[in-house]
Amino acid sequence: MKFLIWFLVIFLIWWAYTRTQKSASKSPPPLTNEPTQDMARCAHCGIHLPRDEAIRGEKGDYCSAEHRTAAQDRNPA
Ligand SMILES: [Zn+2]
Repeated sequence: MKFLIWFLVIFLIWWAYTRTQKSASKSPPPLTNEPTQDMARCAHCGIHLPRDEAIRGEKGDYCSAEHRTAAQDRNPA
């Protein structure tokens, strides 16, 4: 029975601790220049395009393979 009381006390401390941690970490989302989360920016011409349509390079994302080549970038290994 003593064990159960200790278990309850520890659980309550842990519960109170996680609650305070959650409320402390609550902050507004960071403001960025990116229009939306799913957009990529061509590192060569600066155009925005959907991330799943972007060509990936070692230095960043590109709108086309030509711009990746023009930026002297290559496909990540
Ligand atoms: Zn481009």
